[in-house]
Amino acid sequence: DILRVTVGLGDRAYDVLVGAGALSAAGPELVAHFPRGRAILVTDRHVADLHLDAVTAQLSRLGLRVEPVIIAPGETSKSWAGLEQVVDALLDRNIERSEAVIALGGGVIGDLTGFAAAVTKRGVNFIQIPTTLLAQVDSSVGGKTGINTTHGKNFAGSFHQPKLVIADRDLLATLPDRERRAGYAEIVKAALIGDAPLFAQLEAAGAGVLDGADLDQAVAAAVAFKARIVAEDERETGVRALLNLGHTFGHAFEADAPKDVIRHGEAVAVGTALAFAYSAHRGDCSADHAARVAAHLRAVGLPASPAELAHSDWNAASLVSRMRDDKKNRDGRITLILARAIGAAFIDPAADEADLLAFMETQL
Ligand code: NAD
Ligand code: ZN
Repeated sequence: DILRVTVGLGDRAYDVLVGAGALSAAGPELVAHFPRGRAILVTDRHVADLHLDAVTAQLSRLGLRVEPVIIAPGETSKSWAGLEQVVDALLDRNIERSEAVIALGGGVIGDLTGFAAAVTKRGVNFIQIPTTLLAQVDSSVGGKTGINTTHGKNFAGSFHQPKLVIADRDLLATLPDRERRAGYAEIVKAALIGDAPLFAQLEAAGAGVLDGADLDQAVAAAVAFKARIVAEDERETGVRALLNLGHTFGHAFEADAPKDVIRHGEAVAVGTALAFAYSAHRGDCSADHAARVAAHLRAVGLPASPAELAHSDWNAASLVSRMRDDKKNRDGRITLILARAIGAAFIDPAADEADLLAFMETQL
């Protein structure tokens, strides 16, 4: 029961295959991207230890010989040095324009490999096989690739769409529960921005949504939602900014917490709950909808308020100043993604900073 979602970008349209066994089901549409019968596959040491043998066996059953490139796990590999390592590995293996490279891993591997593919020989194709829930529902779809620089996260990169995305649930079996829940926050986010029926489905499934066929449905729906936004605004000049729901608040908490204490998805969960609470405070959205958002996050084990994060030393002025630093802002004003209801987010390009600060003080 493999679900298929098409990201409609004209002659660059591509499919996302979702479900347990999606990799072995891919067959000819995967093999078509490897005219030389070999597949250069970039992954990290951690994912290689857990999945490389099985993935290699599956690809060899399809007639592909795998040439792995294994890099260090973690965000530090999304760097100039990491980019150099991957590009050199592709050139060492004489990659040709006609062949694709596979990214097998989380968002770090996907962003790094996608950027390496974008610049190697002025662009080779790539295929995403995401192995974290975050990567399956968010980073592997939409074509944003890149690395971090000393000036900031994702400050060097390119829009480079994959040719195929294979979101195989079997690869998530080894994912720690905390990582799984953190990735799930991005599914909730997608539903809250613009898919109220999906949110109702998630609410009805409760904690059971984190596994099994319910998860496949949720992943496919979140991908389909992101696909619609990306098709409308590939380069983020307009509606694509809606995908930042919960992220302006969330990034502030991430930035103010000690390194590696809170997960990105946990900050997004709290940020999303706050975006709804703030919308209710402003009178844009009903308090009932804000309460449903917080209740569902808690039902799946995600935090829904700053006090539920694994760090507690928050300061409202510092958080608001972090929100002002967000790279999405224009003219020194804070851009917020707020909501009129569940499934009806909107962009406020100039939030009232004094009101926001007063609100944040009530939330800590
Ligand atoms: P990650 O890639 O670092 O993976 C997290 C950890 O999980 C790593 O240690 C990894 O080795 C391990 N791991 C991966 N798959 C596993 C599995 N199946 N079982 C057990 N462990 C596994 O992090 P992530 O959360 O997947 O991605 C975060 C990155 O994604 C950030 O750099 C962020 O900027 C980026 N991102 C990009 C986009 C985009 O649109 N391009 C969107 C959102 C996030
Ligand atoms: Zn995110």
